[in-house]
Amino acid sequence: MSVSKLGRKASDQPAAEGGTRRAIRRVNHGKTKQLVRARNLDALTQAAARFRDDRDWKQFHNPKDMALSMCLEASEVLELMQWKNGAELIAHLHARREDLADELSDVLYWVLTIAHDFDIELSDAFRRKLAKSAKKYPIDKSRGRASKYTEL
Ligand SMILES: [Mg+2]
Repeated sequence: MSVSKLGRKASDQPAAEGGTRRAIRRVNHGKTKQLVRARNLDALTQAAARFRDDRDWKQFHNPKDMALSMCLEASEVLELMQWKNGAELIAHLHARREDLADELSDVLYWVLTIAHDFDIELSDAFRRKLAKSAKKYPIDKSRGRASKYTEL
């Protein structure tokens, strides 16, 4: 049985997470891997902008309506979960995994295009925000707790 660098058996990994190769990629924080991820996100941003430009849709895209569209797509993620809870919800989402992937991708499309239009480099922005969150939620105070940072 293969064991990933995460120290988990391949068979222990959730199906949604993919195989050992992806798990290894997740834990590899070397500079080369960071550059690869940054290029991938940039490539997705360019693909989203190209999709829009090919259809001449930028003329309809003001920040407010783009943010509204992002929220509507997030609501479609929620819609997949409506009236289901617990084990039934998890089973339902696994059964509708492709629909979930579509809706998450729709949300990402708007995240990418809003970032594009405001020259936000999302790889760096995400890491900066994660660092801010890490300060708000120190591991020793927040580990295993669902409290807001003001209540830690
Ligand atoms: Mg959608």
